[in-house]
Amino acid sequence: MYGSGNQPIIVLKEGTERSKDKEAQFNNIAAAKAVADSIRSTLGPKGMDKMLVDTIGEVLITNDGVTILKEIDVQHPAAKMVVEVAKTQDDECGDGTTSAVVIAGELLKQSESLIDSNVHPTVITNGFKLASAKAVEILKEMSVKSDDKVMKKVAITALTGKSVGGEDEYLADLVIKATKTIFDEGKVNVDNIKIEKKVGGVIKDTYMIEGIVIDKQRVHPRMPKKIENAKIALLAVPMEIKKTEVDAQISIRDPASMAAFLAEEEATLKTMVDKVKAAGANVVLCQKGVDDLAQHYMAKQGIFGCRRLKQTDLEALAKATGGKIIGNIAEITASDLGKAKLVEEKAVGAEDMTFITGCSNPKAVSIVIRGGTEHVMDEVERSIHDAIRVVGLAMEDGKVVAGAGAPEIELALRLAEYASTVGGREQLAIEAFAKAMEIIPWTISENAGIDSIDSIIKLKSAHEKKGEGRNYGLDLESGEAVDMLKKNVVEPLRVKTQAITSATEVANMILRIDDVIASRRAAPMNPMGDPNMGGPGMGGVGGMM
Ligand code: ADP
Ligand code: MG
Repeated sequence: MYGSGNQPIIVLKEGTERSKDKEAQFNNIAAAKAVADSIRSTLGPKGMDKMLVDTIGEVLITNDGVTILKEIDVQHPAAKMVVEVAKTQDDECGDGTTSAVVIAGELLKQSESLIDSNVHPTVITNGFKLASAKAVEILKEMSVKSDDKVMKKVAITALTGKSVGGEDEYLADLVIKATKTIFDEGKVNVDNIKIEKKVGGVIKDTYMIEGIVIDKQRVHPRMPKKIENAKIALLAVPMEIKKTEVDAQISIRDPASMAAFLAEEEATLKTMVDKVKAAGANVVLCQKGVDDLAQHYMAKQGIFGCRRLKQTDLEALAKATGGKIIGNIAEITASDLGKAKLVEEKAVGAEDMTFITGCSNPKAVSIVIRGGTEHVMDEVERSIHDAIRVVGLAMEDGKVVAGAGAPEIELALRLAEYASTVGGREQLAIEAFAKAMEIIPWTISENAGIDSIDSIIKLKSAHEKKGEGRNYGLDLESGEAVDMLKKNVVEPLRVKTQAITSATEVANMILRIDDVIASRRAAPMNPMGDPNMGGPGMGGVGGMM
């Protein structure tokens, strides 16, 4: 403890774990690979699904990389970094998450043997950086322009392999229609599509409307079911008499003052409805409650009303109808009202919903998802969401590439050529990078029960012919290499470039770590800190009790 003799001097707290150099690197690589391995089996259209059960027993069945990784609780810091890649890929593209993670895992696996043979990690990371930049260039070269026909292929590619009950063709058309409708100033914002789910029916009963659907019925049966040329009041405040915060008691002694009290309440509610009516509203959509009496007055005035809307619904409605969200009913004016050609309550399965169509903003779109169970609808929702993102990317950039392993094999070959032009030790890293690209076609074929070595050989020989050969990917039915632009497996360029750049970034980040110093976690049960973990008493006076 006092540095006498050759005893080591301890600078870290007791309980701190430390691993250095190769040990640290191999630990980190192992953890990152474990994450990649955990989702590998879901890659590609023949990938399997995972069933996740959370701590309260909720079940989630999915094939989506990022959904899986978000749900499972990863402890190791390097593993966490890999999970972040999936999230980045998801934020940027909405697709290619599994690929990004699998590539990151493979890059690290390929660097193991380099580290073993004493290639310095800096050399590896430099080589990887060069290779990744070159890969982006090569992908750009092999990309083709996307037109309407190509767009459908992109949508179908995004939907195959998801559990959408074989309805990919139907959903692809729906996705394209929706994406086209919200395409605005060169951008697609998927948040502009409102999704409602109603259990029942089959997936093919899913449909899109131009307008907004809210999962609410009108509050009073005597209200009209249908309003044409709707003028909509969007209320963020209740149509009720405010309840006092504290439990106040009002003692009323004689029946006359009781009547007066009730009359006053009635009058207040009636004034609210009159205000709304005077502004010209024939539809009231209220985020809060609507009193029975107010409902009655509204019905009498022929006003259609819904209550307890979600705030997000109200916001979507404001955007779609050009209405203002009203915080004070007394101040409502005609210019605050939103406009729509039609507001109508209609049945969806066994229940009714409210449809607001012909909105003043034509870019408002809703999709009503139907399906046999909640789980089915959830997966359909995720799939539609992702497909809209992907088709959106293709619309924004106007560039797509063939899929099914075509880009990765092209990269494997061309990066190997490139490696020899770079030379030096970096060459080894670029070669490792090139080799790592093969993991995508390898895994896709493995998951489809096709011999992976055979597949890689077939793909390589197709690509070596150059020209159109670069679009050859793996047909999972026949196990042959075919032109994927013809076979309709097409993906946006950005999904591929983003997956490779972010996979490279995380691999490099992990490779640069040569020292992991981990403090022991404080036990959550003891907020004062674990007495064994140091603190004032450690080794000091009074330490021996
Ligand atoms: P990710 O999360 O990476 O998008 P997916 O499970 O969606 O994972 O698989 C994507 C991979 O599957 C891509 O490499 C894509 O080209 C490939 N793929 C998609 N459709 C097909 C198909 N019909 N045949 C072969 N490969 C396909
Ligand atoms: Mg995908």
